[in-house]
Amino acid sequence: MEIYKNIIDELFEGAYIVDENRKILFWNKQAERITGYTQDEVMGHYCYDNILRHVDDFGCQLCDNGCPLFETLQSQKMNSAKVYLHHREGHRVPVQIKSFFFIDPSTQEKRAIEIFTDSLDERIINQEYKQLRKAVTIDNLTGLFNRQFIDYQLDLCITENRTFETTFGILFIDIDHFKAINDTYGHQVGDKVLKIISKTLRANVRMEDYVGRWGGEEFIIILRNNHRLDLLNIAEKLRKLVENTKIAEENQFIQVTISIGGSNYKDNLSKEKLIEIVDKNMYEAKKIGRNKTIIT
Ligand code: GH3
Ligand code: MG
Ligand code: MG
Repeated sequence: MEIYKNIIDELFEGAYIVDENRKILFWNKQAERITGYTQDEVMGHYCYDNILRHVDDFGCQLCDNGCPLFETLQSQKMNSAKVYLHHREGHRVPVQIKSFFFIDPSTQEKRAIEIFTDSLDERIINQEYKQLRKAVTIDNLTGLFNRQFIDYQLDLCITENRTFETTFGILFIDIDHFKAINDTYGHQVGDKVLKIISKTLRANVRMEDYVGRWGGEEFIIILRNNHRLDLLNIAEKLRKLVENTKIAEENQFIQVTISIGGSNYKDNLSKEKLIEIVDKNMYEAKKIGRNKTIIT
């Protein structure tokens, strides 16, 4: 959580983070300014513990019925509302709030964050919402989704499959001989190659598919509602596109290839087992010569 605490503290708006039970884990400086409550007074307490006691335009208490954070934690969707906060000194402060759900990158636990502004200028809060959302779901170097986000989406896909029988497949992609690129051209060029391959992967699957960086030079793509033939075709298309990419670097062109392992979700597999299968397929692809795709 440390990585984004700093960002949250620097926001122009109030913000706080709660755990699954709405216990307050973090409270920024602006939240202190807007509500009058200091960090020490609220951290470790529950947001419905007589602290903020949001009410709506009709004076309804939202803590027990209609709490935006509770809804966000339940639905995992973004929520926004205009509410009235309870200031420490007793008066009511009108605020515009936005809340969203995320997974703590270090503990993998469920969290929700509420951002609130007393300026009631929605443009500011929208901008900050986007910034924060990015900070917790996006990989800095490549701009793809980060590992936590992909990991969590896999959980959701599996739950959806069990409930609605929706299908999905995943591809595990590893750059071939990437260490040699770093060794030959330097780490910065290595980073550039990672970014370019990321762009190719992102641009050549459907918008609704999730493309993420799983680790150093490894990627996972979640493709929704696919059957086996599609998965092989998509993987082969990506493999060939990367193979045919020439990366310009000081009067020469660098060429890289990728190895892909993939599988369609089936048989109520656990997430761990699914990842193990695609990882194994990817290693098979390496073994038979690299720049290959294996789907089972
Ligand atoms: P293989 O074909 O078997 O996959 O060989 P490889 O060289 O790609 O595999 P290996 O796992 O030995 O090397 C991965 C390299 O990726 C090692 C590491 O230094 C590099 N790497 C990991 N993350 C980054 C990064 O963010 N930037 C750069 N430039 N390199 C990275
Ligand atoms: Mg690797
Ligand atoms: Mg590699």
